[in-house]
Amino acid sequence: MKSVQIAIDGPSGAGKSTMAKLLSKRLGFMYLDTGAMYRALALKAIRMNIDTKDREKVIELLPSLDIKISYKDGNQVILLDGEDVSEKIRTEQVSMGASDVSAIPEVREKLVKMQQEIASDNNVVMDGRDIGTHVLPNAQVKIFLTASVYERAKRRYNELKEKGLLTKTYDELVKEIETRDYNDSHRSVSPLRRADDAVLLDTSKLSIEETVDEIIKIIKMKGFDNVI
Ligand code: C5P
Repeated sequence: MKSVQIAIDGPSGAGKSTMAKLLSKRLGFMYLDTGAMYRALALKAIRMNIDTKDREKVIELLPSLDIKISYKDGNQVILLDGEDVSEKIRTEQVSMGASDVSAIPEVREKLVKMQQEIASDNNVVMDGRDIGTHVLPNAQVKIFLTASVYERAKRRYNELKEKGLLTKTYDELVKEIETRDYNDSHRSVSPLRRADDAVLLDTSKLSIEETVDEIIKIIKMKGFDNVI
């Protein structure tokens, strides 16, 4: 049978990774968090004191960029130059840097190619900004997950607090999310937008379980009852 591809796109903090992870476990599909790849490149630049907005310097990093994805207990692990950086890429500094480097066409070209190679021949749940529009335009199920800026900032605040990584106030997080939304949807290459055939799901008032249920309904609606 042809592989089944599920694309989950949407703005920062809408719950894409949480959903993609839960769904991939439930369906036994491979999971790929594409944001982690942009984050790993941003971390590399930051460690080398390269300004993530400096297009030329970031492009110079690409030929030697060594990013690998592996899985441990069903969770994605991202390796940068052989080092597990899965946690280190979650800081706010790296978030902003990832938004910068992801606006560079050469960066997207390289990372999108890697993402397509990983997805080929696998049943996959992939989350990002351009999965339904560019990376997997033929994905059978496309979901555009969103939530209000305030709800997303609240979730981010709680997540960072739980991990002991909170260095910002709630208001600062609102501003950062607004900035990333703006950058992601206004860049010239692959801006964040809903694919015409993606189902829009606003999670502002939904719990994680309710959101999973809604997505399962969408997958069934698309005729993939057999994979659930
Ligand atoms: O999803 P996450 O917040 O980890 O992504 C980090 C940044 O990487 C985003 O703000 C976005 O700019 C970029 N990104 C992207 N395309 C993707 C995934 C992430 O441009 N497919």
